[in-house]
Amino acid sequence: MKRVHLDHNATTPMRPEVRERLLEVLDSGASNPSSLHASGRRARMLVDEARERTAAALGVGEDEVLFTSGGTESNNLALFGTLAAGRALVTSTVEHSSVLEPAARLAQAGHPWRQAAVGEDGLIDVGLVAQLALGQAGSSAAEPAGLVSVMAANNEVGMVQPLAELGRRLAEAPGPGPLLHTDAVQALGRLETPLRAWGVDLASFSAHKLGGPQGVGVLYRRAGVALRPHLVGGGQEGGLRPGTENVAAIVAASHAFELAVRDREVFAARASSLALELWNGLRESFPGALLMGPPIDSVARLPGTLNVVLPHVDGKVLVTRLDLEGLEVSAGSACASGSLEPSHVLLAMGLDEQRARAGLRMSVGRETTRIDAQQAVDIVRRTCG
Ligand code: PLP
Repeated sequence: MKRVHLDHNATTPMRPEVRERLLEVLDSGASNPSSLHASGRRARMLVDEARERTAAALGVGEDEVLFTSGGTESNNLALFGTLAAGRALVTSTVEHSSVLEPAARLAQAGHPWRQAAVGEDGLIDVGLVAQLALGQAGSSAAEPAGLVSVMAANNEVGMVQPLAELGRRLAEAPGPGPLLHTDAVQALGRLETPLRAWGVDLASFSAHKLGGPQGVGVLYRRAGVALRPHLVGGGQEGGLRPGTENVAAIVAASHAFELAVRDREVFAARASSLALELWNGLRESFPGALLMGPPIDSVARLPGTLNVVLPHVDGKVLVTRLDLEGLEVSAGSACASGSLEPSHVLLAMGLDEQRARAGLRMSVGRETTRIDAQQAVDIVRRTCG
């Protein structure tokens, strides 16, 4: 029987059009974009065009697009590269580890780190984040923060944070407010990502989450936002991200971004309906099953992502058993899998440790079919029933 892969939040298969472009560039003889000879100039042109295509897909200026090695690097660069000495940082408690771990390092280095708790549905309280960000008279958080980082959509549970509202609240503050960064790695291609309307200063993207190659991403940096490079030793990307560009991957990524934005509405509608089918099947089979995050039909839910806690089940053990039966899903975030830690996201949403280990994440992709969804439900029923 065909295996069913429902772990697209971890990575996605490369789209055929993107793969074709990747191979074309690899075979094109384009060399180092910093070289002055013809093959170098060709490579430079390819990177320039990729930047133009990416900027158009994101609705931003070309000078606002920095190519990086992916979401992790973009998040690291946004945090380490913008926070001025001694300034505070605000994050939610449900951020990806590539935000939380840099935040912990910054806290060790003396930056106050204020973490905003989320509700049972995983959503931030905009008022609370704004309070932590803007400083509260008479409390330990009296000084305004230098940077706020709140993800657009969560990779484990799929809640979609009210970024536009947060951006508005921060902008209402008198004087220069904190910078706003968003990890939009899971959002692009599934949600609208109006960076200007959100009012964000920085945003992270990754190509392999939407049909592009692994190891390439973007940091959007609004024009005028000062950024300190994390790496030194070259002038590429305006000196902000030195190192010879991965030309073929950058070109391929730019096509993946463009296609993901072009196809977003159709894909999001299909992904939502497949997630609904999965949830209805699981709910019928397991009356005690708990759907984490906002309701299945909520606009605050990332299309195609489900996190379900089944009664009396250890998620990590279940993942292995389901894999043996032909169903690929995950527990917790892909980066954390392998460890036996409960999910920090589910803990932050109020689950106890045992149930925070039991969350089963299913995420659909462009190739997922109705038959896959039905087969997945059958496999879970057989394995846990
Ligand atoms: N942020 C989120 C929300 C993610 O889901 C991921 C991937 O797991 C990352 C950041 C890291 O992205 P990358 O794998 O490109 O480093």
